[in-house]
Amino acid sequence: MAPRVEIIALGGTIACAPQGAGGGVAPGLTAAELTAAVPALADVAAVGARNLANVPSTEIDLPLLLRLAQAIRTHETEGVAGVVVTQGTDTIEESAFVLDVLHGGAIPVVVTGAMRNPSLPGADGPANLLAAVTCAAAPSCRDLGAFVAFDDMLHAGAWVQKRNTSTTGAFWSPAPLGWMAEGVPALYARPARRAALEVPAGAAVPFVPILKPGLSDPPHLVQAALDAGAAGLVLDLAGGGHVHSSWLDVLTGAARRIPVVFCSRTRGGRVLSCTYGQVGGEIDLMARGLTGSGDLDALKARLLLVLLLMAGQPDRFAAMTDLSLPLRAA
Ligand code: ASP
Repeated sequence: MAPRVEIIALGGTIACAPQGAGGGVAPGLTAAELTAAVPALADVAAVGARNLANVPSTEIDLPLLLRLAQAIRTHETEGVAGVVVTQGTDTIEESAFVLDVLHGGAIPVVVTGAMRNPSLPGADGPANLLAAVTCAAAPSCRDLGAFVAFDDMLHAGAWVQKRNTSTTGAFWSPAPLGWMAEGVPALYARPARRAALEVPAGAAVPFVPILKPGLSDPPHLVQAALDAGAAGLVLDLAGGGHVHSSWLDVLTGAARRIPVVFCSRTRGGRVLSCTYGQVGGEIDLMARGLTGSGDLDALKARLLLVLLLMAGQPDRFAAMTDLSLPLRAA
């Protein structure tokens, strides 16, 4: 019997249709239409398809992703082999990360989309959908958490980043899980998995802004964020996690009230913890009560902090930012 794969569509370029002369394209194609356009799906799985939304990806919010995670849990208990999520690419790096944090099951959760809409020559949606469904049906892709299948590359949800506005190979991760080799997922790495975070369905989404200081940028927005009720702050800082000295007093005060996390705007490598003793360096920031984001970039650190605040467990943040594999005993 063919493995069962559920496609849950949220919209995005993969589902876009022309809006008439000069009107550009907008999401509109349904999950059933996306599936019908790729007859080869029937060769790899018995596919079910439905929409949970049909929106540009910037309209996707955390309550929708919590409902999606619940739907995935239900499908796993029903015996589904895997779930594919199609959505706009602009926020895939956030959705895939959230789904990875919330998904404690073994089934593959594969997120995909398209950079070229279906009306363009060389539209990539059909190939991406076929690769995603193939991965979702593959026993070899179990226990990988949520990951992105795109342009024949497989990127862990914990790591994936969108790095280009328009090329079909827009997604990147420092160590891809693998790639599609003649239609089959070939795996070369595994992500470190952790217990799923349980977030109460009705929990309010707290205000946690990301601030990214540039040269000669005064720290006014820190106080503005506090005045606006921020429950946490995420700073996207230079280099290993460094900020101008004029920010230190207000950040020290903020960190006494709410979690304040610092990340690296390089979007690569782990934030530093014990290298620079200079003013505004990571050692200074940590002594002032700020927390480094470990392996997480600012978007992902923000989402982790938001989800932990929703779960009432913000103190777990630091322990969840190391994405490296546990060392094997000699
Ligand atoms: N450019 C986007 C996409 O690739 C639009 C969106 O994210 O909704 O789907």
